[in-house]
Amino acid sequence: MRWSWKIGKVAGIGIYVHATFFLLILFILFVNLHEGKSLATAANGVVFVLAIFGCIVLHELGHALAARHYGVRTRDITLLPIGGLSRLERIPDVPIQELWVALAGPAVNAIIVGAIFGLSTLAGFRPNLTAFRWAGGSFLNNLMAVNFWLLAFNLIPAFPMDGGRVLRALLARRMEYSRATLVAARVGQGIAFIFGLAGLFSDPFLVFIALFVWMGAEQEAASVQVHSSLAGIPVQQAMLTNFRTVLPDDPLAKVVEHALDGWQQDFPVVFGDHVLGMLTRENLTRALAQGGMQSPVRAAMNRDFVTVDSHDMLENTLATMRAARSRSVPVLHDGTLVGLLTMDHIGELLTIHSALRQAQYTAQSAPPHPDTTPR
Ligand SMILES: [Zn+2]
Repeated sequence: MRWSWKIGKVAGIGIYVHATFFLLILFILFVNLHEGKSLATAANGVVFVLAIFGCIVLHELGHALAARHYGVRTRDITLLPIGGLSRLERIPDVPIQELWVALAGPAVNAIIVGAIFGLSTLAGFRPNLTAFRWAGGSFLNNLMAVNFWLLAFNLIPAFPMDGGRVLRALLARRMEYSRATLVAARVGQGIAFIFGLAGLFSDPFLVFIALFVWMGAEQEAASVQVHSSLAGIPVQQAMLTNFRTVLPDDPLAKVVEHALDGWQQDFPVVFGDHVLGMLTRENLTRALAQGGMQSPVRAAMNRDFVTVDSHDMLENTLATMRAARSRSVPVLHDGTLVGLLTMDHIGELLTIHSALRQAQYTAQSAPPHPDTTPR
């Protein structure tokens, strides 16, 4: 996400913080000083924000560990003032798995609320969920209230909150996945509309949340369409079989020649049956600037590249390519190079599929021609 800084790594997952989080810290300082509180109280407020920050990290780690249990890795976690955002490498395939992954985050907040409630009661205090104050008040009680709020907010059945995913997972047990997503997205937008309307007459902050929820629903609905268009298509149906390869000892001049007489941007570097590397357009231009036309391919090629199998499913392959930031990957079968898969080509395939789907939809919904209507 833009405007985010990496602050650390937990269990191999990069943790990023979004710039707006600092706005929240400024807001706390402002509220404290505005109310005439001492600098010590204000500092206490900032520590409190950092504690919330810790709880959100734990919430996201809850999702990440549940996902890992199902073999899905988490790419990174970004912290926003309204919560965290975990980017999973893919959505778990089975709806029930998505349900548990979605619930694992709020479960962490529920545990924190329970723990503070239990410990305070044991220590003779009276925990109170409604006694929350941005400035002053009991630190632990405030933290409990915030965790309760995080729990409730995340369970609202609307994307991009966890509740939206829970709703979809439940719907997906009764209907097709993409249909379940669309229904869940519409429910979410209905809720966003009510929030927005209520916000107009009460708290402007609600309007902000409504906008956020509305956009989250749109995005989820769009991403699942890509997901379902690619579902069930193996790589071998989408890969190019007519492409050029180069040898490690070829001079770059030869690659330039190939690049100029075709549309291919990236070239597998092969030796016998083995793929030794990939030479991308970026590798080529950089090497040309440094060493000129006669330098060998082996010095310019990328040795750190991903390969896919021709029997892999396109859906998973696309996720792999995105994770590796690769535009083209060599397709192997039994260790032998059989094709080249490019993002451009997958994009083309998606366009054709959606056009065909549109045609099907139009044919279904077109009114019958008057002449052919049976009387
Ligand atoms: Zn969550």
